[in-house]
Amino acid sequence: MTAPTAYEKHDHHQCIDEALLAARKICKKNGARLTALREQVLSKVWQSHRPLGAYAILELLSDEGQGHPAPPTVYRALDFLQENGLVHRLASLNAYIGCDAPGRAHDSQFLICRHCQITVEVASDSVSSALKTCAERRDFAILHSSVEIVGECPNCQQAQS
Ligand SMILES: [Zn+2]
Ligand SMILES: [Zn+2]
Ligand SMILES: [Zn+2]
Repeated sequence: MTAPTAYEKHDHHQCIDEALLAARKICKKNGARLTALREQVLSKVWQSHRPLGAYAILELLSDEGQGHPAPPTVYRALDFLQENGLVHRLASLNAYIGCDAPGRAHDSQFLICRHCQITVEVASDSVSSALKTCAERRDFAILHSSVEIVGECPNCQQAQS
């Protein structure tokens, strides 16, 4: 198996470009309006493969001379991006990460490195169906699931050995 791109040196501008391109397509398909601010928020979330909190996004926007958007504006933009499946919220970090397979409904599992915070999204059908089975045995209907797994990425494991 090849390592996910996020762990390797790569041209990250390409990740951002691809994410923005996909976002424009998806919003068009959904009849949703990807305003300039929403697009800027999305590109901030995508600035790295590390989850980013709303206030960090807000700071980045003001640093760039985008004025000082009010926190609710940024939260609304994040809600919009989430509703359109472009970003995911990581509850344990209260932060957001860009979805690398946007445009289709999926439940995700996130591998979060406790050292560098690089987060890789996996959307394993077998994990999802195992969860579904567990829930069904308890008469529980899953609407949505998001599993956050903390550990060490290959780079950080190497750095320690
Ligand atoms: Zn990248
Ligand atoms: Zn996703
Ligand atoms: Zn790491």
